[in-house]
Amino acid sequence: TAPELLRNFSIIAHIDHGKSTLADRMLQATGVVQPRDMRAQYLDRMDIERERGITIKSQAVRMPWAVEGPDGAVVHALNMIDTPGHVDFSYEVNRSLAACEGAVLLVDAAQGIQAQTLANLYMAIEGDLTIIPVLNKIDLPAAEPERHAEEIASLIGCEPEEVLKVSGKTGLGVPELLDRIVEAVPPPVGDPSAPARAMIFDSVYDTYRGVVTYVRVVDGALKPRERIEMLSTGAVHDLLEIGVISPEPKPSGGLGAGEVGYLITGVKDVRQSKVGDTVTSAAAPATEPLAGYQDPKPMVFSGLFPVDGSDFPALRDALDRLKLNDAALTYEPETSVALGFGFRCGYLGLLHLEIIRERLEREFNLDIISTAPSVVYEVTMEDRSTHTVTNPSEFPEGKVSSVSEPVVRATILTPSEFVGTVMELCQSRRGAMQGMDYLSETRVEMHYILPLAEIVFDFFDALKSRTRGYASLDYEMDGAQDANLVKVDILLNGEKVDAFSAIVHRDGAYSYGVMMTKRLKDLIPRQQFEVPVQAAIGTRVIARETIRALRKDMLAKCYGGDITRKRKLLEKQKEGKKRMKAIGRVDVPQEAFIAALGAD
Ligand code: GDP
Ligand code: MG
Repeated sequence: TAPELLRNFSIIAHIDHGKSTLADRMLQATGVVQPRDMRAQYLDRMDIERERGITIKSQAVRMPWAVEGPDGAVVHALNMIDTPGHVDFSYEVNRSLAACEGAVLLVDAAQGIQAQTLANLYMAIEGDLTIIPVLNKIDLPAAEPERHAEEIASLIGCEPEEVLKVSGKTGLGVPELLDRIVEAVPPPVGDPSAPARAMIFDSVYDTYRGVVTYVRVVDGALKPRERIEMLSTGAVHDLLEIGVISPEPKPSGGLGAGEVGYLITGVKDVRQSKVGDTVTSAAAPATEPLAGYQDPKPMVFSGLFPVDGSDFPALRDALDRLKLNDAALTYEPETSVALGFGFRCGYLGLLHLEIIRERLEREFNLDIISTAPSVVYEVTMEDRSTHTVTNPSEFPEGKVSSVSEPVVRATILTPSEFVGTVMELCQSRRGAMQGMDYLSETRVEMHYILPLAEIVFDFFDALKSRTRGYASLDYEMDGAQDANLVKVDILLNGEKVDAFSAIVHRDGAYSYGVMMTKRLKDLIPRQQFEVPVQAAIGTRVIARETIRALRKDMLAKCYGGDITRKRKLLEKQKEGKKRMKAIGRVDVPQEAFIAALGAD
């Protein structure tokens, strides 16, 4: 297809404002998906995406759309890239935007602009994309399209009349939107006669087809059966198949400048097709790579342990597989006294963690337990040595001079009546206010610097419940700052239980200690002797509970009695033994640790 007939765009929006639903209607309106094949969230291909109703991976699909020209109808090729909305996955949005010239900025007509609307809009503006403002869900009785059109217009600097109004549910306004995309989004500019350069923006492993690589061709063209070269490594592969997704992969005669599509080589390993790399022709290679992407850095760490120790190799294999198309996931082996062999894993955020955990359980059938999430701390000792700590149990011993923790720049959008309660919440989470803007008389944008550790747990839930669901949050990393942080250890009969060590602010140390000691006291079965459960900062005990010893007469119950009962008891004990972890002289069923980690 000639570049002037191409339009590459993506849909950006706050989560749940209707991207995937609108994408469905576009697939239908352009005839790419026949009515009988239609299913909701067509492009969300992973089970977990469909069930949770969220998009995790970006998807690219090509749709034909005819518009009337002076000499009759002209068929254009629209490439739509659906993107995830959650903050954890904003690097995916960035990657998608780099492959587009335009962005449909979708806003729920009942809710108006939300925090991720702004974050995504700024990303699109930074990428120099043409923005098409659209209000969605105008079928809703609660929709206020006029009011929100004004807000959007004043935000992006256009007329309120220019804001399109659609319903992804009924399909109303969708053909007009497609017309507007053709009219307003500029066609891609690239040099068709230059050596081929194509940007890899995603690559996935498909059981039947091997590695499928998604590319956007910038200059030149790629042809079927030619030999291609990966610019970063110089590796050369045969191009077995090349084509477009519409909505399933369709081989084509090649991809020209500006086109978006997929390619398949004989390669079996996704790592050979690195996201951000430039693909060129081996016969006439380009010399300059395209500007790549920055690998996302994990922000939150936690230990993952198989409940059944013999699953350790299976867990390793599963992580290897997930890592293939998830550059943000990191892991290395870790051993815990309480939980055995496992991995220390790094994630983009809590949702990412949850999704990895769920995929391990569902796709790989593994039973796993994860330890409390932790952020990355930089610890400086009095002797000037420094340590990077992602695991509280590895917090250095000795004289600490300072500890710094990552902080985020958070944007919170809220109806003005909740400003006070949002401030209270942020203050209780050690936030520092940076400023406040009124978007309109009733909507306020608040800026805070907050420790990441305070955000990753339940901040979002707390914000939602205090504002009856009306406030929204977006954040980006903003370096690190020193804080008064201490490590709290939990001791069982004087022995440290590594999985429960935590790095907390000094003001929160006592309540963490009280909570964990109580919890463990309730969960750990009585022993023959009295067992103290303590929380300590260094050698100083800050909380204590006691598990009282079993009474003699209770022990006596186990003797005598009828023989079958005794045998049963013995068998039960044997089974239990497998899972017992010895912390010093105390035998603890692993289940107790798991329950203590899992409870809220
Ligand atoms: P995404 O997170 O932006 O991809 O949002 P979804 O497309 O998954 O939509 C979120 C929710 O809004 C779903 O329950 C949709 O059924 C609903 N929804 C989407 N578009 C419309 C619309 O135009 N009207 C109505 N009434 N509901 C919609
Ligand atoms: Mg979606």
